[in-house]
Parts: sequence; structure tokens; C-alpha cells
Amino acid sequence: MPKAKKKSVKKTVKKAANKSAKSAATKKAIKTSKVRAGAKKSGEIGGEILLQPPRGMRDLLPGEQSYWSQIRRVLSRMALEYGFGRIDTPAVEYANLFIRSIGSGTDIVDKEMYLFSSRGGGDKLALRPEFTASIARAYLQHGMNVLAKPVKLFSTGPVYRYDRPQEGRYREHFQANFDIFGEQDPILDAQLIQLAHRVMASLGIKNIQFQVNSIGCPKCRKEYQDLLVAYFESKKQKLCQNCKKRLETNPLRILDCKEDKCIQVASAAPQSIDRLCPECRVHFKNLLEYLDELDLPYMINPKLVRGLNYYTKTVFEIWSGDENERKYSLGGGGRYDYLIEELGGEHTPAVGFALGMDRVVQEMKRVHARTHVEPKPQVFLAQLGDLAKKKSLKTFAELQKNGILTAESFGRGSLKSQLRVADKLGVQITLIIGQKEALDGTVIVKDMVSGTQETVGMDKLVLSVKKILKNNVIVSRNGE
Ligand SMILES: [Zn+2]
Ligand SMILES: [Zn+2]
Repeated sequence: MPKAKKKSVKKTVKKAANKSAKSAATKKAIKTSKVRAGAKKSGEIGGEILLQPPRGMRDLLPGEQSYWSQIRRVLSRMALEYGFGRIDTPAVEYANLFIRSIGSGTDIVDKEMYLFSSRGGGDKLALRPEFTASIARAYLQHGMNVLAKPVKLFSTGPVYRYDRPQEGRYREHFQANFDIFGEQDPILDAQLIQLAHRVMASLGIKNIQFQVNSIGCPKCRKEYQDLLVAYFESKKQKLCQNCKKRLETNPLRILDCKEDKCIQVASAAPQSIDRLCPECRVHFKNLLEYLDELDLPYMINPKLVRGLNYYTKTVFEIWSGDENERKYSLGGGGRYDYLIEELGGEHTPAVGFALGMDRVVQEMKRVHARTHVEPKPQVFLAQLGDLAKKKSLKTFAELQKNGILTAESFGRGSLKSQLRVADKLGVQITLIIGQKEALDGTVIVKDMVSGTQETVGMDKLVLSVKKILKNNVIVSRNGE
């Protein structure tokens, strides 16, 4: 938290404390906490309690949920249409799973992974920085190789990367992940890209472009990598410090370095698509033919390599363009034909992609996309008196069970203040149970649209409410 903000929170706490009757005790507590804060740094156990989550993480408040509901609905719908089964894996795995599959020498493993030891120190654990390694682990563990191919798995949830937080990039962010196991054919790569395109279109995000590339298989990539290393060695003095290191650990990543001088060097570097073996070349050619057939907006980007070592052949990203033509990635994926084998399984070609949900939500806001709005209650239940209050919870549940979304303000005693809440909500019907009604087993049903009211027996309540709601719909339709 910035210093100024911290101060103001404290001030507010102090102000509130001064007003309170227990102000002396509270003052003392604040004093103690100040002393403690001086002794221990924030974030340390025993230190000051900061009213905020760790840096790079945030709350998704109710006001923002309509975007998230919409994206979740679209994703579930697409998963169903394309035959994906839902899978949920833990957010924590043994660190080795990610180190071995994503690979050392990558930014994710070397710099961005949250690593910790379990209590007692025996197990080295990690917060998942991505999904695919976990999904592949689950595929093997649960013997999904015996299932009919392809096996299609879909997942959503938080992933964690210790990266520099910036707009649209959080240390805890949310991904939707689609993986297909057991098929070699590029038609599946194309189908995944089609799926991604449909997700975007359904969300109202029209201005997107797919970047595609093939980085070859272990056979042809070795040769290409040697060529690339030789090229960058000859220009080593022009590379940034990071890329000088990457030359030893992960030379492919130099191609997507964001430093100007590296971009310049990389522009003349040999391209992987010129060095593909016959099998990889045919695979890539077929993929492009499928994309042409689908009429999808794509571009071959020879510099696209993705930051994970398990990729082979196809890699792709979904880029969004705004008015100023600035492009950023909303997600990406590729083929990983050897990952299952590397984790100890039989040879299983596979392809997958992940969508950055936070980025997609940001893009939805930018293009003013339609969101999913939950229905608002049209009925308000008010009560007056002890007996009525006792009956109200049961009546409330009865209405909800019958599909009548109902609001209430049971904590308030006076009828007037309850009706004020009903008024604010703009409901169509107000139900009132008073002392007399509670004794008689009746309810006053007030139609707020027509202004009429009647007293009905508890057993007729649902029917009566439904009738008014139905009539009002017809009236408002006719009025349009
Ligand atoms: Zn190859
Ligand atoms: Zn660089």
C-alpha cells in the first residue's frame, strides 16, 4: 500500500475509534498495534494487519461479476459443444512437475514460480503457474490413456506468477484451459483455434487476430536451434543482458524479447518454418489450409515461440487490437506431443490452449461487451410483529422454492423502513404479514403496478403472486 493511503486508513480507524464509547480501550489497541508495526514489517507474522491482499492480487467485487458470469457461461457452453469434460486439479502441485515439464531456462520456472516447502520441509511445492502440466499429470495418474481418443479436458481457475504487476497482469490471475490428448492431426489444432474464435465472438470481442507459427519437433528443432545460436553468437554484443544469458539457456526466447536492440537483431534471424522436417512442414501446411477454410483472421508470426519448453510444432496466440492498433495477447497455446512421454507415459500427441480471463474481461469492458445480468427480485416480503416475524422465514423459502425471487429486510422492525427498502428495489409486488395476518394464516398482497391489494390465504400465495407477475408482463408488453 502506498504510504499516503496507509495513513488515511489509520486516520479513519482512529476517527471511528474516537467516536465510539469504548474509545479508551480502542486507542490503547491502536497504540499497541503501532508499536508492533514498528517492530515487525508488514506481511510478517505478528506484524501489522494490512487491509489488502498481497501485491499483484485483488478481489473481484460483486459489481464486476457480470463480466465473469458472462465469460464463464460462454466457456461452459463451448466446452459442451466441443465435447470437453470438466476437470479441476489442485492449485498446488509438487514443484518438480512444473520444473520438468515447463523446463528450467524459462522465465516461468526460473523467475515467476511461487515455491515453498510444506511444514516440516519435506516437500517442495509450487502454486501452479499454468494448467497443462497439472492436467497431463492427472491424465496419467487416472489412466485416461485407456479412454477413447481424443480425450478432451476443460478447466478454469487461478494461476500464480511472481511477475511485475501491471495493468491486465496480476500475480494471481484466472485462466480457462482446453486440452486435447491422443490425436496428431492438425484438424484438432484448427478446431481449438476455431473454439477460441467463437468464445471471443460470443463475448462480443470482434477485433482479434491469431498469430501462428510452427517451432518443429525434437528432430528438426535441434538443427534449427544450432543455426539460431550460431546467428545470435555472431551478434552477441548487440543483445541485452537477459538475452546473453538466454543464449545459453533458452535461445528461442531471444526471438520474443521486447528490448528494441534485440528486436532488431531478431528481425534477421533464421526462421523455424524454413527449417521444418517434412513431417512438421506438412502438419503446418495442413493447419494453415484448415484456417483458410474456416476464414479465420490469422497471421504467420515466425517470432512466436511461447515461453514453455514442452511445445512442439504448432504454437499460436490470440491478439486483440484496439483503435491505436496496439496488440496484446488474450491467450495462446500449442501442440505438446512429447509431454506425456516425458512425464513417464506412452507417446501421446496433444494440443491445448489457455485463455487469460482477466485480460478477456478487460477487453470486454473496453468494447462495452454485453454482460450477464442476474434477474432482480420482483417481490418484497415485509413483516410486522413477533409472530409475523417468525412466520416470515418459512414464507420466504416457500416463495423461492416456487421460483419467485424475493427480497426482504427482516432485520428492520418498522414496517415503514421495510417498505422504503421495497420502494428502492422497485419491486412489482409487496407482501405484508402483520399481527392479524399471522394469526389468520393470510398475507396482504399489494400490486405496486396497479396499486390494488388483497388478502389471500397462505396456501394461495404462490398462485396469486404468479398471476400478478404474469399480468404485469403482459401489460408492459402491450404498453411498449
Ligand atoms: Zn520436425
Ligand atoms: Zn533481449
